[in-house]
Formats: sequence, structure tokens, C-alpha cells
Amino acid sequence: MGFFLATGLATGSGYAEAFSRVPSRVAIDAPNPVTAAIALGSNLGDRASYLDAALRAMGSLPHTALLAASEFLETEPVGDPDQGPYLNAAALLRTELAPHGLLAALQSIERAHGRDRARERRWGPRTLDLDLLVYADLVLDEPGLTIPHPRMHERAFVLRPLVLIAPELVVPGRGPVADLLAGL
Ligand code: ADP
Ligand code: MG
Repeated sequence: MGFFLATGLATGSGYAEAFSRVPSRVAIDAPNPVTAAIALGSNLGDRASYLDAALRAMGSLPHTALLAASEFLETEPVGDPDQGPYLNAAALLRTELAPHGLLAALQSIERAHGRDRARERRWGPRTLDLDLLVYADLVLDEPGLTIPHPRMHERAFVLRPLVLIAPELVVPGRGPVADLLAGL
């Protein structure tokens, strides 16, 4: 599989084209590090400790470095109003993990910090939510993984922390982060 990717990249095509030639559900690692943006949120327990722990855990993932982390911003809950305020943050990673591998790693960090999807309601309170926002210039829409994250461009609680560390980051198909926030 690395061959397909290496070929696609060597000819100058982007990740979207390279991935379109790779069957889905095949684990592949990116041949070169890419930049990925992550949204962090917590509204249960010691919220700042959960975000700190998540940043450390992401920076400790194999083939991954933490490039930047925003400050933590308090935001009102969206969706289910019957829950406390969130603490939100954003992070930039440099990673060689493939998109599905990165999402699986983020979900295992969530589980390691008290997240129990089986017992929670959609958009209800959670100790830790890690969303994969942007992965290089990749556009992907599969049942368990959509990139860019499908609701990020309309969520101030995602864009406000992200603009602090990556105002010029282009969300594929949507535009630069700073423009998206200004348009809300
Ligand atoms: P939300 O983050 O929207 O509040 P959850 O954290 O419960 O909701 O995630 C619901 C599902 O969204 C997960 O099971 C995951 O497979 C899926 N998902 C699809 N695309 C993404 C993405 N880019 N980042 C994180 N989860 C995603
Ligand atoms: Mg999530």
C-alpha cells in the first residue's frame, strides 16, 4: 500500500487522490509526516487535567509529535443543554499515522481517560472528546470517519481555540480557519 501512496505523492498529487486508489479499511501509514488538527473537549470531572493528559498522550503516540496546543477556553454546551460548560482546546500534530490509525489512537486516549461511549448520550457530557478535524489536504467520507470533520466549520467552540494556533490552516473545501471563524 505504501507503494500506491509513494507513487501518488511522487507525482505531485495530493492525499485525496492518493487515498482514492487505496481500498478502504486497509491500514496504511503515511509515508511522510503530515499535519493534523485535533479538537479537544471536556465537561466532566477535572476538565483541565483531562485536556492536559490528552495533549501529553497525543505527543507520546508513535511516529507523532505535538507541534502546538492552544490555551483552554470555556464554552457553553451545544446540543444537549442539560450539561455543564466545556473546556475546549485545539492541537496540531505532525504524524506518520494513517487517518484511521490516528482516529483509533484518539479513541483509545478517550477510553483511557474515562470516556464510556456505551453509557453516554449523543452530544451529552463526556470526560474527553477528541475529534480529528483536518488531516493534511485529505477529504474522506466513510461511515466511521469523515475528514475534514463535518461540523467543525460551524462550531465556534472548535474554531476559537484552533484560530489561536493555526489561523491560516486551510480546511479542505472550506477555507482558512480565520475566515471560517469570521464568517460565523
Ligand atoms: P461528537 O464528537 O460529534 O460529539 P462522538 O465523539 O461521540 O461525537 O463521535 C461519534 C462518531 O464520530 C465516532 O464514533 C467516530 O467514528 C465518528 N467520526 C467520524 N468522523 C470523525 C472525525 N473526523 N473525528 C472524530 N470522530 C469522527
Ligand atoms: Mg468526538
